[in-house]
Amino acid sequence: MTRIQQIKPDRVFMGRLKYGSDLLEEITEICIKERIDLGRISAIGALQKAHIGFYNQKARAYEFLQFDQPLEITNLAGNISFRDGKPFVHAHVTLADDRGNAFGGHLAPGSVVFACEIMIDIFDGPVFERMLDEETGLVLWKF
Ligand code: ZN
Repeated sequence: MTRIQQIKPDRVFMGRLKYGSDLLEEITEICIKERIDLGRISAIGALQKAHIGFYNQKARAYEFLQFDQPLEITNLAGNISFRDGKPFVHAHVTLADDRGNAFGGHLAPGSVVFACEIMIDIFDGPVFERMLDEETGLVLWKF
């Protein structure tokens, strides 16, 4: 079932992430520190190495890919909601290699920042809580 709820724009944070930080963990830290539990994330920049996932729908499990090479973050798109009583960041990245080839996936811990410029749009709205979804095996919004 498709489910939507109305939310309202509140504030926007804009900044850059620390060299050598873990991309996903650093964004999560910002959300915890600034008490952001509903938002949209976009970013561009570069990684020293990347760790991204692909959800195998048949096996209902993530398969992970490791790239130990410099990559451009041509786009990061994500959202912030609630999981287990804490802000939870879900983000996907599109990356490009030194030949301009692009690929991407679900951002996992282990992606190390070279440089990253980030914008976080914060919204006012109901709580978007993540719970296990039996149909997909994913932890999705329930409301
Ligand atoms: Zn994902």
